[in-house]
Amino acid sequence: MKLTVVGCGDAFGSGGRLQTCFHVAAPEEEFLIDCGATSLIGMQHLGLDPERVSSIFISHLHGDHFSGLVWWMIHAHHVTRRTRALTITGPAGTEERFVTAAEALFPGSATVKRRFDLRFIEYTHGKAIEVGGVRVTPYEVCHPSGAPPYALRIETGGKTVSFSGDTEWVENLVEAANGANLFIAECFGYDKPLGYHMTWREIEKQLDRLGAKRVLLTHMNTEMLANRDEVRDPRVLVAEDGMVIDI
Ligand SMILES: [Zn+2]
Ligand SMILES: [Zn+2]
Repeated sequence: MKLTVVGCGDAFGSGGRLQTCFHVAAPEEEFLIDCGATSLIGMQHLGLDPERVSSIFISHLHGDHFSGLVWWMIHAHHVTRRTRALTITGPAGTEERFVTAAEALFPGSATVKRRFDLRFIEYTHGKAIEVGGVRVTPYEVCHPSGAPPYALRIETGGKTVSFSGDTEWVENLVEAANGANLFIAECFGYDKPLGYHMTWREIEKQLDRLGAKRVLLTHMNTEMLANRDEVRDPRVLVAEDGMVIDI
């Protein structure tokens, strides 16, 4: 299984990084974890084919994590003329938020008759969803975004990738990350405590309890980026756009 960092930036363009999007190529499936506004740009830059993606798992309903669906759908309709079904999983209200965003930016684009089945599935805390050969279990976290936010534990082909989504430290992260081959952790700040986001100093303290084999730090603000050389734990990687990780 191969994970490609399409975008590991925050909502503010810190470090010139693209917004959150991870592409996973598993033996039988290709899928995305989050789809920030710049996801299609990043995929085109990296030569990743949107047509091969069969599902998109959204952590929470902030624009830097889900609004790329708007451009994704117009590309699927007008450019690739997609016929393959697409499943999107997300918090309660994901479909309505997508329709609102799409109609604001490209009127008519959400109601157009598509050539492919578009299916939305909503999360319930702790309840696993099977999509194709992928099993995703959502765990509620703490990050106000107009709908419940989630960490995701994604299992396929005997491997596990977990993602914190955006959140301050919550105990549910331990269950989401435990034993994972890779835990992608939002690390917005370096050492100054922040509401609704984590810092490197907090994550560092929890590494043993999280129990993931490797941890990938993402969603870093300018202060965290300036201090990234202070991350020296051998289990921890600092994300870069375009980075590829074998899992
Ligand atoms: Zn974010
Ligand atoms: Zn957010």
